[in-house]
Amino acid sequence: METSTEGSAEPTGDDAVASAAPEAPTPEPAPTTATSTVVEATAIAPASLSPSRASDFMQCPLLYRFRVIDRLPEKPSEAATRGTLVHAVLERLFDAPAGERTAPRAKSLIPGQWDRLRESRPEVVELFADDPEGERLARWLGEAERLVERWFTLEDPTRLEPAERELFIEAQLDSGLKLRGIIDRVDVAPTGEVRIVDYKTGKAPRPEYAEGALFQMKFYALVVWRLKNVVPRRLQLVYLGSGDVLTYDPVLADLERVERKLHALWEAIRQATETGEWRPRPTKLCGWCDHQAHCPEFGGTPPPYPLPVRAPESGDAAQGRMGPD
Ligand code: SF4
Repeated sequence: METSTEGSAEPTGDDAVASAAPEAPTPEPAPTTATSTVVEATAIAPASLSPSRASDFMQCPLLYRFRVIDRLPEKPSEAATRGTLVHAVLERLFDAPAGERTAPRAKSLIPGQWDRLRESRPEVVELFADDPEGERLARWLGEAERLVERWFTLEDPTRLEPAERELFIEAQLDSGLKLRGIIDRVDVAPTGEVRIVDYKTGKAPRPEYAEGALFQMKFYALVVWRLKNVVPRRLQLVYLGSGDVLTYDPVLADLERVERKLHALWEAIRQATETGEWRPRPTKLCGWCDHQAHCPEFGGTPPPYPLPVRAPESGDAAQGRMGPD
């Protein structure tokens, strides 16, 4: 699951879904060379990529470093936490018989799923620590209800029987690159056609940004193709924030293109890991970044790079030039 966030400007993160995050490179032992800050390192590369981490690197290589290598903590946000809650409700609703999958039933699941979320991720309690009367929490839960209700205007769960919910997928490409992620819902038609569905609690992007939004879905489609040798028939993004559904019917060439793109991205990440050159790329999305205090673009200093580095070679500077498809 790529947990969605409010508004199209805030970056998505599956990071409410820590299990979908890529593994960080294993730090090598500290270098023993006493005379130089530039040392040889054995090849260190990320073990795997998820759509969110791939998007992080495309957005800002330094952000990727902070999240994957430094593993700097990030505060939970109301929007992302609400996204996690709504996803849990929509998933659990399918436990009920088809005829009972109604909006009131879905809304009745919210309090219990909120309790479960607080148990599994106690840090989310901080979000409402300064709300002793519970007014902000009530508004927040009310917005979660509205998002759940809106889903019923977009899809009819009484007519759906998902083949999978919250499906963890992982595939290793011939190059060794491991791709992983969690798909919100997989529908399989009687004819065998596969539809991959992802819920977003934010708003649908403007058409010129739709391609970026589809990157995550094509990533999943690539993993499904590599695992099952089946090209999904349809990719479907359900935007609960704006009440839109974005669909795309991929062809094999789309998936091959995404695979090439991910290999290029992986190579850029590998080079950055080895050289320690993680360039900040400031954009308006910096407003959502938790790491401004460590970012040179905002007068901060990154923590000491925890891995041995080698001197960059000419041509190593490919990092940071990637963009969605
Ligand atoms: S503040 Fe902006 S430039 Fe700095 S790390 Fe975060 S996203 Fe990158």
